[in-house]
Amino acid sequence: MIIVMRQGAPDEEIQGVVATIEELGYRAHLSKGEERTIIGVIGDERPLAVQPLEMLAGVERVVPILQPFKLASRDFRPQNTVFSLNGVTVGGDQLVIMAGPCAVESREQLLEIAAAVKEAGATVLRGGAFKPRTSPYSFQGLGVRGLELLAEAREKTGLLIVTEVISPTDVALVGEYADILQIGARNMQNFSLLQEAGRSGHPVLLKRGMMSTLQELLMSAEYILANSNYRVILCERGIRTFETATRNTLDINAIPVLKKLTHLPVIVDPSHATGKWEYVGAVSKAAVAAGADGLIVEVHTHPEKAFSDGAQSLKPGVFNQLVADVRRVAEAVGRTL
Ligand code: PEP
Ligand code: MN
Repeated sequence: MIIVMRQGAPDEEIQGVVATIEELGYRAHLSKGEERTIIGVIGDERPLAVQPLEMLAGVERVVPILQPFKLASRDFRPQNTVFSLNGVTVGGDQLVIMAGPCAVESREQLLEIAAAVKEAGATVLRGGAFKPRTSPYSFQGLGVRGLELLAEAREKTGLLIVTEVISPTDVALVGEYADILQIGARNMQNFSLLQEAGRSGHPVLLKRGMMSTLQELLMSAEYILANSNYRVILCERGIRTFETATRNTLDINAIPVLKKLTHLPVIVDPSHATGKWEYVGAVSKAAVAAGADGLIVEVHTHPEKAFSDGAQSLKPGVFNQLVADVRRVAEAVGRTL
């Protein structure tokens, strides 16, 4: 449940309510809005009686949250979550563009692509050092060497780094290099990974599982938020359907539905959603028109030689055009890029 404090309730009253909640064996999470503070009561709330809480000083009302996700819900935090990372704002009016190769393959490859995506207007560089591959015989990523190359690319370009972590035991290591930890579709319900990423305090890009509902995605986000890590970005990356013309099917509905249910920023991955580079531009524009807060796009200077996902990777010139087209759509829906 949430406890909505009176407008302008002083700090002592807020702390008084927090202390009572903790004495009862629950955890309190604060959401400080411009007008009022909302206190989320986390724990098994079945035995908790509403009435005594309503009598505490400064409390305006006590409301049960009907959704199974609590901290991720708009009831807990009505205003959008917006946060800045080294000058890049996520969740605000300005869209965030993340781009780069599927995987870090070599120093030359990464630095060349990093320079190209920066030039086109991206502010975050993507690239996997640890790759969750369907086959154990496929390229698994460069590991620590890949992380070092990403750090070098950041140094050279000023781009932030988002890279995937596939194991709870690697969270600390990846966190030493990355600005944003990516949790991929295949690991969306790896609960120990979610917990560890939550505890690390690093911003997390959480991708929707290819067969997961939006409620399941939000429950996974809840694991991170419950560890007091509120810097979570959700990503729709296409789901499995009966359609075979594309690799996945972008669930465009996910954007307005998530925007209604949660305060967290929502971005779209048009590359994995389509699996084919020629559709990436159209789907990117649709995503931004539908209210996405940004995009994560695979770009490669030599897609035909890419170790993974070459078929869906854009050449820099095409990516450049995509950014220009998306900028016009962004302006039409009151956003900037
Ligand atoms: C990726 O971003 O390279 C990736 C593996 O994506 P997903 O987890 O969405 O399949
Ligand atoms: Mn990929």
